Amino acid sequence: MQFSELGLSDKVLAAVEAAGYTQPTPIQEQAIPHALTGRDIIGIAQTGTGKTAGFVLPMMTLLEKGRARARMPRTLILEPTRELAAQVEENFNKYGINQKLTVALLIGGVSFDDQDRKLDRGVDVLIATPGRLLDHFERGKLLLNGVEILVIDEADRMLDMGFIPDIERICKLITKKHQTLFFSATMPPEIQRITDSFLTDPVKIEV
Ligand code: AMP
Repeated sequence: MQFSELGLSDKVLAAVEAAGYTQPTPIQEQAIPHALTGRDIIGIAQTGTGKTAGFVLPMMTLLEKGRARARMPRTLILEPTRELAAQVEENFNKYGINQKLTVALLIGGVSFDDQDRKLDRGVDVLIATPGRLLDHFERGKLLLNGVEILVIDEADRMLDMGFIPDIERICKLITKKHQTLFFSATMPPEIQRITDSFLTDPVKIEV
């Protein structure tokens, strides 16, 4: 299958071509068309499978319509570590060459001020670790009821790191109807419980 058959926008396709990719990986081939129709997805995939582009590319296509409002991010990506969050931000920079999306990274270990300023200006894509996200929420700097797409990435690592209560809390704070893209390398019962509680009629993709 070709990238051009997946339903991605012309701008995103041009960025994929600039990245030098010739063919979608299996997770991309299976996830991208469903993500573009608004379905919830459970992707069982390891790092190295191209899963990041599997959610970043359709998100970029869907975000072309509409714009961000102050303190109300349009999409939220949760990552277990600062390093993974930073890598996802790099993906948006790499594929976003033709698009003016505002991307903010909320991770611990850096000052709140810059992060607050970015949130005030309006953010299309918020990439966060769960603890820092909840810190901002509790400080009243962030509203989660505008989130249209939620990505929970590396869920089994979130479990290992004790983040499941935070994830449940965050899921409950997103009150607006939204799409959830959920990725994990394995599906232990604690993870299965989250998908049962918070996803609606998900497509399950295993690579
Ligand atoms: P990930 O599994 O998301 O961490 O991606 C692993 C690596 O594969 C990254 O360095 C990507 O740049 C690269 N990659 C993602 N999609 C493709 C593709 N369709 N063709 C070639 N490389 C890709």
